Amino acid sequence: MQRSVTTTPSHELVASEEWGARLRSLGRRVTKQRLAVLQATDRRPHSSADEIAAQVREQLPSISTQSVYVVLADLTNLDLVRKFEPPASPALYETRTGDNHHHAYCVRCGRVDDVDCAVGHAPCLTPSHDHGMQLLSAEVVYRGLCSACQSRADPESRL
Ligand SMILES: [Zn+2]
Ligand SMILES: [Zn+2]
Ligand SMILES: [Zn+2]
Repeated sequence: MQRSVTTTPSHELVASEEWGARLRSLGRRVTKQRLAVLQATDRRPHSSADEIAAQVREQLPSISTQSVYVVLADLTNLDLVRKFEPPASPALYETRTGDNHHHAYCVRCGRVDDVDCAVGHAPCLTPSHDHGMQLLSAEVVYRGLCSACQSRADPESRL
């Protein structure tokens, strides 16, 4: 599936000094690799690791895709980056973290848009039975047809 990517972030880009300060406060050294991955992810929200690697290589031509995966995994653990796994494409990364926002996923073109959580805190769904677990979050993905795909869709073959 050819995924259409939103190229304009809906937020102010974070300056590299600010990323440096956040890395240091989390006990990480500020490296060119980490900064380049953070900035590429910030510029194009919901990019795959391969897309981020391609962006990063424009600045750091010798970095391997494997290194980008390692850096992304670490940044995800630090909560500087959020990983989103859409139903039918590779994992996507973004720098909008900690706000329990959800995603709207177009089943035809793979477009991904952010949707603010209507409740505002996690978990925002109450299960019928919690099995004694202390619930941390609920995974909410809205699936549908984006407006571009709706206008392109043949009315006979609507999903
Ligand atoms: Zn679509
Ligand atoms: Zn998002
Ligand atoms: Zn919610």
